[in-house]
Amino acid sequence: MRWSKAFIPTLREDPAEAETISHKLLLRAGMIRKLASGIYNFLPLGLKALRKIENVVRTEMNKAGAQEVLMPIVQPAELWQETGRWDAYGKELLRFKDRKDHDFCLGPTHEEVITDMVRRDVKSYKDLPLILYQIATKFRDEIRPRFGIMRAREFIMKDAYSFDADWEGLDNSYNLMYETYVSIFTKCGLRFKAVEAHTGAIGGDVSHEFMVLAETGEDVLAFCEKCGYASNVELTPAISGEKYPSEPEKPLEKVYTPGVKTAQEVADFLGLPVSKITKTLIYILDEKEAVAVCIRGDHEVNEVKLEKLFPEKSIRMAREDEIKRIVGASPGFIGPKGLKLKIVVDKALEGYPNFVIGANEDEYHYINANMGRDFIPDIVVDIRKACPGDLCPKCGTPLSFIRGIEVGHIFKLGTKYSLPMKAMFLDKDGKMKPFIMGCYGIGVSRILAATIEQNHDENGIIFPWQIAPYQIGVVYLKDKIKEEAEKIYQQLSKNWDVILDDRDERPGVKFKDLDLVGIPLQIILGKTFEKTGEVEVKIRKTEERKHMKPDELEEFVKEFENKA
Ligand code: ATP
Ligand code: MG
Repeated sequence: MRWSKAFIPTLREDPAEAETISHKLLLRAGMIRKLASGIYNFLPLGLKALRKIENVVRTEMNKAGAQEVLMPIVQPAELWQETGRWDAYGKELLRFKDRKDHDFCLGPTHEEVITDMVRRDVKSYKDLPLILYQIATKFRDEIRPRFGIMRAREFIMKDAYSFDADWEGLDNSYNLMYETYVSIFTKCGLRFKAVEAHTGAIGGDVSHEFMVLAETGEDVLAFCEKCGYASNVELTPAISGEKYPSEPEKPLEKVYTPGVKTAQEVADFLGLPVSKITKTLIYILDEKEAVAVCIRGDHEVNEVKLEKLFPEKSIRMAREDEIKRIVGASPGFIGPKGLKLKIVVDKALEGYPNFVIGANEDEYHYINANMGRDFIPDIVVDIRKACPGDLCPKCGTPLSFIRGIEVGHIFKLGTKYSLPMKAMFLDKDGKMKPFIMGCYGIGVSRILAATIEQNHDENGIIFPWQIAPYQIGVVYLKDKIKEEAEKIYQQLSKNWDVILDDRDERPGVKFKDLDLVGIPLQIILGKTFEKTGEVEVKIRKTEERKHMKPDELEEFVKEFENKA
């Protein structure tokens, strides 16, 4: 490609609409443009990177014996009614009617459609195992689309589905996909970790997420350096490594705490560590029942654990006006003593002596509260997020924590879809049985954003070789060496994706753009070339510069590629 002909509208300034590095750089490098909230155009450079990622995914999926299909994004309501997800899925499922008044939705995922496809035509154990996949558009009406294509409403996903005759078969398919994911993310040049995960709206029992490690990630992962245990903190059991001192119970005392609301403010006001303060939060179940959740001030409620405690119920935090009506005091002054609600207390408060609770009266707290003496909990359970100081649930070593971006998620579904949809096959023993299923997603467009979060510097993107839209950029700084540059461009284009910067621009502009769009190898024909006939090769990632004759370039690039 010649840059003078290319549609790569780079921007010098950070666009105001973007908060994260990857969003900024994708816009600045002219790779994407916003059409509507969470809905993006991919420009040529963005699409080229996306296609490279798809290529890695497709190659590895095919290698694993999975077969590619393509399913519609428009899906009839009837299929979703068969599994009950038409009602259960919530507002992320965009529903609409056609001109004949039939209900449809835009596919946020394709379990129903694939199960329908397979039940129609797969009849015997002889046809199993079967793994089908597609790389296609998904639509999820996300409540807060953000960070550009990282959390979009319309995005590209690779979704795969396995069908087996029995659970052992599912284990094999699942392990095969796990290994395939490891190869895919490795081939994309990403640093990542696989962790045990929560199954969410897709369902099933066992699941793993693949996380690209980046400080800006929305997820927190807990892992053990000793035994290798790793999980999303949504799932990590919180096992405290702290031993509470045995301290006599002191008399409960009501204290005036004017204007202090957060646990930290109360702690500062009373001159106590924040761990000695408790927060009591009010949640509303199924829009009718209120429950109180009591937890240490330095801990955070894990809402996934809360959902599991009240399965099948909708849960949300109560609003300030609701709290005032239900408790008769403002948030910040709520406590479990005398509260006429179901009280859930976090396990970390067990055996914890003399802590602070809200008095259910504005501007007052109690100090020296003790569970059992001053209030009786209905449920004592692990309801918090694991945090530094907690121990590995497998081996007891202190856990480490790191942030990540979820780029892949695999699930053992079992019969969650095949049973309600009556997707059956004839087994060896002559009996009809439901397929044992798994499903496996990769956020293809999210990988592009995650790659940039992980690989950038102050000058722009640093694409890993494998998914760089262009691997090599050739720049000449004077018109009289144009022909030599052209020759190099032609020669290297035989094996690699090369862009020749033939624009009538200042060298500074050309260098800035090459860095911004993240081209891994830059070949520069400048003053040195005029003097010695040697080109300069700049490695984007390390900023190393090497000099060589044009006929040494091919060998050099081959070596660089092998090491990438
Ligand atoms: P998240 O927790 O980030 O919402 P999810 O658990 O809803 O993800 P899955 O249903 O497992 O995601 O979808 C498979 C993959 O699709 C995810 O691992 C992620 O990489 C990608 N993905 C999910 N939602 C989005 C989105 N809104 N924008 C871009 N990619 C997404
Ligand atoms: Mg989601």
